Amino acid sequence: MSVLLLSASLQPVNVISRRRLIILLSKQRVALMDTEAELEALAALEGRRFTEGVMVVRLLRNIHVPRRMLRPNRRNLLLRDDHTCQYCGHVGPASDLTIDHVVPVSRGGEADSWENQVVACRHCNWRKANRRPEEVGLRLRRRPTPLTQEYAHILFLRYPELKAAYDALLAA
Ligand SMILES: [Zn+2]
Repeated sequence: MSVLLLSASLQPVNVISRRRLIILLSKQRVALMDTEAELEALAALEGRRFTEGVMVVRLLRNIHVPRRMLRPNRRNLLLRDDHTCQYCGHVGPASDLTIDHVVPVSRGGEADSWENQVVACRHCNWRKANRRPEEVGLRLRRRPTPLTQEYAHILFLRYPELKAAYDALLAA
């Protein structure tokens, strides 16, 4: 089950774990958006299992919620780069796309950083091989930066079921 946490003014803040939800509930920091959610939360507090589905909760006051750091893994890099080759602009299914180290690891580039990894199509990756982009006439379309979870659209890309629940809530 996914739990979407909203600010007091109903802006998406984060997706939180069930454990975190239970802590917030027990400190009476959050309110639930509907009766069904309330029953689920009571069950959770009593130690019973959550059912599958989506839960939306709202902070009663805006408090600091630690953001989860996202890892620069393949899935997150594809999200950050919009499934787009950062050299030629080709957009394709994930199966067509590779992850390229801008400065090859063999030449001192960081293996596991947001800044040194981009999405590249097979063709560009093959063309670039073990070289720096400028050596083969390739240019990055934008500077690679870390993906953060602060933006609602990133949350909703990762958790489309929460987007539906949020839209339904706003429409109600
Ligand atoms: Zn390309």
